[in-house]
Amino acid sequence: MTLFDVQNLHVAVGGTEIIKGLTLSVPAGETHAIMGPNGSGKSTLAYALAGRDGYAVTQGSATLDGLNLLEASPEQRAGGGLFLSFQYPVEIPGLSAIAFLKASLNSLRAQHSEVALSAPEILKLIRARADALKISDEMLKRPLNVGFSGGEKKRFEALQMAVLAPRFAILDETDSGLDIDALKIVSESVNALRKPENGGAERGMLVITHYQRLLDYIKPDRVHVLAQGRIAASGGPELALELEREGYDKYLRAA
Ligand code: ADP
Ligand code: MG
Ligand code: MG
Repeated sequence: MTLFDVQNLHVAVGGTEIIKGLTLSVPAGETHAIMGPNGSGKSTLAYALAGRDGYAVTQGSATLDGLNLLEASPEQRAGGGLFLSFQYPVEIPGLSAIAFLKASLNSLRAQHSEVALSAPEILKLIRARADALKISDEMLKRPLNVGFSGGEKKRFEALQMAVLAPRFAILDETDSGLDIDALKIVSESVNALRKPENGGAERGMLVITHYQRLLDYIKPDRVHVLAQGRIAASGGPELALELEREGYDKYLRAA
């Protein structure tokens, strides 16, 4: 069953078309990777799917389990099970990490008519997951992302993802700013959500990355090459290894 489906998507930023007819489907239970050179529009795709201001979808469709993402508010997208992790997480000075997690989780619960959880209940829910990600209680009390190192921001995003357990996650350059130990820790947390016993057969993921290295840890079912605003090629995990060896030139010339 197709979980996430994008057809002929066009996205313009500041009047310039960056995504030019992108088509991609991810079935439930699968993890796909999008690889592309710097400036190919990987983050533009993620921002457009998140509904960020300034990213104008001029043509095409994007659905998650039948929900028309392009007509949904960012809150409705999250309520429909979409989760995005960005290359550059935002800093929120007035809000602690734990308060942010509580607000995100309770907003989702409200959209599904579930009762709100209290702070102690949330803390209990996240403790085991936070330990696995080496996130201390002290870090959870600090203002969100303010003064967090690159690795701490990514580990906190992995915690959000573990707690929210989204139907479909898009991870944009999760490996950037991570040393190898943090990369392993974050990847293990992401992979836990892919396991069938954790509902992984119902979930899908799109892992956006410039480098093949991340895909040694989060092994994709399919790999797509983004070049010049479109999917220029698709294949199995071996395509990522080919890109690592030979670079993107072939796809840039052909496009
Ligand atoms: P990637 O994530 O693959 O490195 P991006 O999506 O960040 O690529 O950028 C794709 C292209 O869109 C680049 O040419 C970049 O300069 C341009 N671009 C991205 N954001 C903006 C913006 N806010 N205004 C104008 N151009 C932008
Ligand atoms: Mg970039
Ligand atoms: Mg990017």
